[in-house]
Amino acid sequence: MNKRDYYEVLGVARESGEVEIKAAYRKLALKYHPDRNPGNKDAEEMFKEAAEAYDVLTDDEKRQLYDKFGHEGLAGSGFRGFNGFEDIFSNFGDIFEGIFGFGGGGGRTRAMQGKSLRYDLELSLEEAFLGKEAEISFHRLEECATCHGSGSKPGTQPETCGTCQGRGQVIRSQGFFQVSSTCPACHGQGEIISQPCSECGGGGKTRVEKEIQVKIPAGVDTGSQLRLRGEGESGENGGPPGDLFVVIHVKEHDFFAREDENLICQVPISFVQATLGDTMSIPLLGEEKTHELNIPRGTQPGEIIKVPGKGMASLRGFRKRGDLYVKIVVKIPKKLNQQQTELLQEFSRTEGLTLSEKKKKGKGKGFWKKKAH
Ligand SMILES: [Zn+2]
Ligand SMILES: [Zn+2]
Repeated sequence: MNKRDYYEVLGVARESGEVEIKAAYRKLALKYHPDRNPGNKDAEEMFKEAAEAYDVLTDDEKRQLYDKFGHEGLAGSGFRGFNGFEDIFSNFGDIFEGIFGFGGGGGRTRAMQGKSLRYDLELSLEEAFLGKEAEISFHRLEECATCHGSGSKPGTQPETCGTCQGRGQVIRSQGFFQVSSTCPACHGQGEIISQPCSECGGGGKTRVEKEIQVKIPAGVDTGSQLRLRGEGESGENGGPPGDLFVVIHVKEHDFFAREDENLICQVPISFVQATLGDTMSIPLLGEEKTHELNIPRGTQPGEIIKVPGKGMASLRGFRKRGDLYVKIVVKIPKKLNQQQTELLQEFSRTEGLTLSEKKKKGKGKGFWKKKAH
């Protein structure tokens, strides 16, 4: 592969000083940074190319070799360029920290809140209606009980980091710039654990199984979230613990369907009940006693009878309970015995002529004629 001229890559003159080179590189690094160009191979190449050019042109020895003998001169000196991002970041990590603000310049004692956790809880519709005291068990990282989170074996102390003298930050000169970055030896802690706690291996946290009681209020629905403050994982450097979010899933019920605060059910009745009217017992959600549903005379198929105040419990309080809507399904018998057939024919006669009698007289066709056209 033909390598481009380093001065051309950075767009600077051959006699440019370090300030100009640095400025040009920063500009390119910002533009082609992988965080800003995810998955863009061309940007990746430009980014590597610029890093390599910057590395060579800001190093007196390499620059002289390059100026005299070009790329070959460098190859002879053992310089191989950069293989990947890892190389680039380990070489000039701090220049990016300055630009992008990552790497945690906040110092060694920065307190951080622990991670929040999610627990999915399945409830029956009855449980959602009545509310429930649920016991849930889950795993979380907690401060190690043996070392109280210090990570050091009890009775021992961590040593002050020799690389940063306990500051957690190191100052590096990148030619013109002085950049401070997280100490690579202690990862910003300022201390190094020489004798790690055997329980947590020096991490200061252990994974424990936790059981807690959760009070689920009446009226919750699928997607409702309960936030239990401080029940997540423990924080870093004295930071507060995260929260636990209990996410509710309400299972489908055999008889009742839910629509917000209302309940809907279907009740099948015979055509005789629909015609003559009737009373029938229907179950109520979460109640022992049944409801006497009054079916008025002449109830039509699909008609909806409202039972006020017998719907779902509301999160806004029990008084706000929704309504129950009973949808009437009228069943038409598929089989009749001789007596029933005769009775219905008799009934039909009272209304006038039977259909077959109308047909014989040539009158019953009107309706079908209309439909056919
Ligand atoms: Zn420990
Ligand atoms: Zn250090």
